[in-house]
Parts: sequence; structure tokens; C-alpha cells
Amino acid sequence: MRNKIDLSPNYSKKTRKHKDIKFVIIHYTGMQSEIESIERLKDPKKKVSSHYLINRKGQITMMVNELKTAWHAGKSRWKNFINLNRYSIGIELENKGYEFGYQKFSNIQIKSLIRLCKSLKKKYKIKDDHFLGHSDIAPLRKIDPGEYFPWKKLSKYNLGLWYKEKNQKINFKKSKIRYIFFQNLYKIGYRYFSLKTGTIKKDKKIIKAFQLRFLPKRVTGNIDQKTLKISYNLAKAITS
Ligand SMILES: [Zn+2]
Repeated sequence: MRNKIDLSPNYSKKTRKHKDIKFVIIHYTGMQSEIESIERLKDPKKKVSSHYLINRKGQITMMVNELKTAWHAGKSRWKNFINLNRYSIGIELENKGYEFGYQKFSNIQIKSLIRLCKSLKKKYKIKDDHFLGHSDIAPLRKIDPGEYFPWKKLSKYNLGLWYKEKNQKINFKKSKIRYIFFQNLYKIGYRYFSLKTGTIKKDKKIIKAFQLRFLPKRVTGNIDQKTLKISYNLAKAITS
């Protein structure tokens, strides 16, 4: 299917440089239809946009020039980057989302996404672990693209981080589990928490964001053995 161009007026007027583009952020639209989503992403009053939207048939609509900063991420952090719009390409996937009936992403939609991401990766030399979901960079506010998003599949194309399943037992003192888990998350790139203390509500949101991404069949908000183990293996892969 041919790609479309349907430009949004919502972007920062200042042009950025090729080398400023370091991340790809993936979202779902969370609206009833593609048309509604495009209307919203073009509405000057809404002040939101993304570079691309991919519908369920796999058709890609370009909405903002890649060298302009689109407004998709909002307040966000990853590693030492604050507010990732400036550094990223935003891609919206058509999906009704949790509010209107969360759907499995269609194969053809994911195929288009992978093709687009591969070309962006090459063009801007984007690092493997710089393909992220909205919930990774804004875990207290956002849950998209959600647990159906196939991160494991994308990682096979070096788009996004994944872990190797290992048969290992990690023994930690119960009192240390929170600290170790969040230390691992910090190494991976997650922010919005303190290593020393945390509130249950905030902690749960961040644990859930991590599980949405890496343990999508078990999004509990609790740091169980498996969750801890995955965080440990990911953090190790980052530093080595
Ligand atoms: Zn989003």
C-alpha cells in the first residue's frame, strides 16, 4: 500500500539537526478510528502530533517532517535525556487503546512499522536500545503501546532491547529487592524514581511500565523473582 502525506501544523518551528535524532518513540493512538486520530494530530488546539501514523492495514501517513520536532512524548525522561520530543521520531499505531477496547496489533501494521524503524535506524544511526515505548519514558503518566506490542519480535531486528532467558537463581535479601530492582532500571534508562525511597503508588506504576514492556503476560506491579531476574539480565547487557 502506498504511503500518504497529511501534514500537521503542530511542531516546533525551529529545525533540528540530523544528529539530534537519537530515539524512536512508539505510541498507540487510543482513539475510535484512524480518521479521528489524524484529525486530532492535526488540530492546532490540541497541540499534539507525531511524525508517522500507521493504520491497521499497514499504511503509513507522514504527518511531520523528520527534521522538525513533533509533539508526541510530553514530559519524559530516559537516561540523561529530558523531554524526548527534541531527540526523537514519534510513531503512532492505530489502536483503540485501553479506553475504547485495546486490540492486538495487526501483522501487516507491525511489518510496516519494522520496515520504517529499520530505515530510520540506518538513516540516523539510532542505537538498538533507543527504540522505546511512550510508557518507558513517561511511566507515571502513560501505558502505551501496551502489553500487545511485540517488543520481542522487534528486538530480532535490533530494534529495542530484549533479554536472554537464563536458568539462574538470584538470591537477594528481601529487604534489598526494591533497591536492586530500581538500580537495574536506572542502568537500563528508566527514571522518575528515587533509589532510596518510593511511594507504593509510584513504584507500582514504574514496575508495571517495565512489565508491560518485558513481561507482558504478567503485569502485576510487584517485583517477583522473574521480574527481578529480567531487570538484572537487561542491566548486565547494558553495561557490558
Ligand atoms: Zn503515547
